[in-house]
Amino acid sequence: MKVFLPWFGHFGDLVRDVLPWIWAQYQPGDIIGGNPLHGPLYPAPPEPHLWAPVQAHYPAGYDYRIRPEALEEQLRAVALDLWPRADLVTWAPDGESYPKPPITLPEPHPVDVVLAPRSKPYEDAKNGWPWADLARSCRERGWIVGLAGSRAESAEIPADVAAWDLDPAGDAVTGTLRLLLGARVVVSLDSGIGHLASLVDAPQVVVYPQRGDERRSVVLRDGHMVAMRFADMHRWNQRLCLPAWGGPEQVLAAIEEALVARVLPGLIDAWKSRHLSDLPDVPPTAVVREADRSLIMRRSGNDLIETTPLDDRLLTPSPAEVERRAATCRACPHYRADSDRCGLCGCAFLIAERVASPVARCPEGRW
Ligand code: SF4
Repeated sequence: MKVFLPWFGHFGDLVRDVLPWIWAQYQPGDIIGGNPLHGPLYPAPPEPHLWAPVQAHYPAGYDYRIRPEALEEQLRAVALDLWPRADLVTWAPDGESYPKPPITLPEPHPVDVVLAPRSKPYEDAKNGWPWADLARSCRERGWIVGLAGSRAESAEIPADVAAWDLDPAGDAVTGTLRLLLGARVVVSLDSGIGHLASLVDAPQVVVYPQRGDERRSVVLRDGHMVAMRFADMHRWNQRLCLPAWGGPEQVLAAIEEALVARVLPGLIDAWKSRHLSDLPDVPPTAVVREADRSLIMRRSGNDLIETTPLDDRLLTPSPAEVERRAATCRACPHYRADSDRCGLCGCAFLIAERVASPVARCPEGRW
């Protein structure tokens, strides 16, 4: 018998890496460690005793600034105490590619657009994306807007329905799954909700600051580079998975396009040099998708979206670009000159360091 010690890191890694591994390894009778509130994602209900130490260590949810070593020891001790003869196993990258976890899906809750206004309690350039502006514009178009995620880790923005109001008691994921399954399009950052959307094949738009960021590493957390995982979402999603770059205006245009796009079967090479008008019943936009790339066909021409990760060393900004970024920040209403800080994401050393970074990004997509 195995005991799967709980994964307590980021939700995106849980969905993308840990759950497929657990589903591939699990045998009836094994014990699962994990957040009981995420029970529907696992092959068996997670054991609450194994989650109690995680809850005590990270009372406000996972925070990368709190060291986990003591917790890891504690979890092993709890597991050995309860199941002394069990084989304790912990997820670690092993280079394998496991299939999508076959989770049981709940009833869809129909909405037009699902937004994932993620907000963490620590400095993070994913914080501060202007979700409220986007939600307002969506509702002005008459679209029904749902919010995915949890109340604790979401920004408060206007919407018609929130996932946490659809969750049954003791469950923090079913409401999100229902919205993702009922959505005409899901909009997220490169985050756990984005991975969950790709897991359930919800048509999705994933937002990045600049074109190319979806294939690179970007500084998001307190100076740490984080590899973006658009390629993984694109590979999983069998329907529509497109990147969008910039702020609410650009994302709104991407949503409008996704809502009417016709997804075509076939090989991209067969369509690359053809025009949208060659299609029967010409749609406003068509998308031909393969596992690692999508071709968007528009009246204005075709756009090939590659997903293969790029070499980050090619990104060093020129002195002129550094100065342009600094000038943008100085003129920005969010810039806090007294502390050299961005008021949106909370990141410090903005003009002193971040504008010269090859991988840092403005949370509003201004640079
Ligand atoms: S321009 Fe600078 S201060 Fe304004 S939101 Fe972007 S990073 Fe923050």
